[in-house]
Amino acid sequence: MTIRLAEGSLVVLVGPPGSGKSTWAAEQFRPDQVVSSDRVRALVGEGEHDQRAGKDAFDVLDLVVERRLRRRLTTVVDSLGTDAKRRRGWLAAAERAGVPCVAVVFDVDPGVSRSRNQERDRPIPAKVLSSMLAAWPGARDGLADDGFAAVHPAGPVTVVAPDLVTAPAAAARQKEDPMPFEFGLQLPRFGWPGGPAETRDRLAEVAAVAEETGFTSLWVMDHMMQIPGVGPHWEDMLESYTTLSFLAGRTELARLGTLVTGVTYRNIAHLAKIVATLDVLSGGRAICGIGAAWFGREHAAYGWRFPPLSERYALLEDALELLPLMWGKGAPAYSGRTIEVAEAVCYPRPLQEQVPILIGGGGEQRTLRLVARHADMCNLFGDADTVRHKLEVLHGHCATEGRDPADITVTHLGTADAPNVDDHVGRYRQLAEVGVQTAIVSFPETATPEAVSGFADVIRAFRSAQERSPTASA
Ligand code: GDP
Ligand code: MG
Repeated sequence: MTIRLAEGSLVVLVGPPGSGKSTWAAEQFRPDQVVSSDRVRALVGEGEHDQRAGKDAFDVLDLVVERRLRRRLTTVVDSLGTDAKRRRGWLAAAERAGVPCVAVVFDVDPGVSRSRNQERDRPIPAKVLSSMLAAWPGARDGLADDGFAAVHPAGPVTVVAPDLVTAPAAAARQKEDPMPFEFGLQLPRFGWPGGPAETRDRLAEVAAVAEETGFTSLWVMDHMMQIPGVGPHWEDMLESYTTLSFLAGRTELARLGTLVTGVTYRNIAHLAKIVATLDVLSGGRAICGIGAAWFGREHAAYGWRFPPLSERYALLEDALELLPLMWGKGAPAYSGRTIEVAEAVCYPRPLQEQVPILIGGGGEQRTLRLVARHADMCNLFGDADTVRHKLEVLHGHCATEGRDPADITVTHLGTADAPNVDDHVGRYRQLAEVGVQTAIVSFPETATPEAVSGFADVIRAFRSAQERSPTASA
């Protein structure tokens, strides 16, 4: 059976001499990921078999393990692993670092161990090996009580993102008892091979394929230059609302929004006007994503003020109050913390009675409080455990603000970096189980029609729930 190992885990090998531990470690991991007591003995003593260097070797090994765990580097401890006290030490180190610790067990026929021992350059004395082999079954059976996250029999390893370790089980739950879930597509990169002359056609094609594939919303970032971590700043970056209005003309069903508009980039009344126009021209499909803005460089480049965070939050709260006034009936004056508007007037008003407002980010003190107070949707990152925690915080704010959490749609932004359909389904199922309703999917590279349509099976795994659910057909 394949071992699914969370990236950054500590792996403790346990087995008698000649059970194949070092061979397995060399096959499954890079040499630098394996911390071997034999190798460290050779570093601090006269050779791998210098038993007098044993204590020093384990002191060094423990230090190396601890420092690697601090950096969240996947680490394999290749020693006998039969000393319960040492195992407890490694378990404690992993716990301190907040990483999972698993044991991999190497069972071996005593005769095989003995004959492999005989073939070694410097065999372990037969008596010593016999006592080790005699103690082995007891040591193996005791492992279950150590507190490892898992005890695996030796086998091939797949290293996966931590949330994917439990994805297969979650995918099985989705198959058995499907939950409904929506998918949106974020397009943060526009570097199609044909360059700007083809951008129009490529973008339209990807959007059409996304709708056919079952994505129910399309999102672009609101940035003037590509952001760090996604691509180089000179990469092609389309202006958000111009792009969304193009998509409004080229698509029929998908909702359209930014993820998210920085509150600093536009006069807020003007932003309301832009979103209202998008809503009208898209037939009522606009979503207004908004956030406190963070990309200082872009502001400097374009000559915009980039106020301190507290002022940006004041501006954001003003925007959250002003936008609905702009879209609503009449022409009231608005006087906020940072904004004055004489007439909140915008004709045509949006087609939607209420253009949904999505606030981006999971900041617990300010952002999620603003979500509870003003937003129709929130957008969170991270794995299911992280999201569960953020939603607990949000629900706390909802209680304070007298808001029903059920009125807030929970969306999640993540990169589609899982290796296969089942992993994707399992990951989204775990998010669905903690309260996410829509996953907004972003591909690491510029989205191609193939990458987008490749998501069809994932979306279908959740569609079947929608079709079965009586509320969907009502
Ligand atoms: P360790 O003492 O548990 O680290 O065991 P090693 O990985 O050093 O293996 C001891 C000897 O057994 C080496 O000569 C390996 O080449 C050999 N060996 C390990 N695994 C296997 C296996 O699966 N099949 C065979 N035939 N030999 C193996
Ligand atoms: Mg070995």
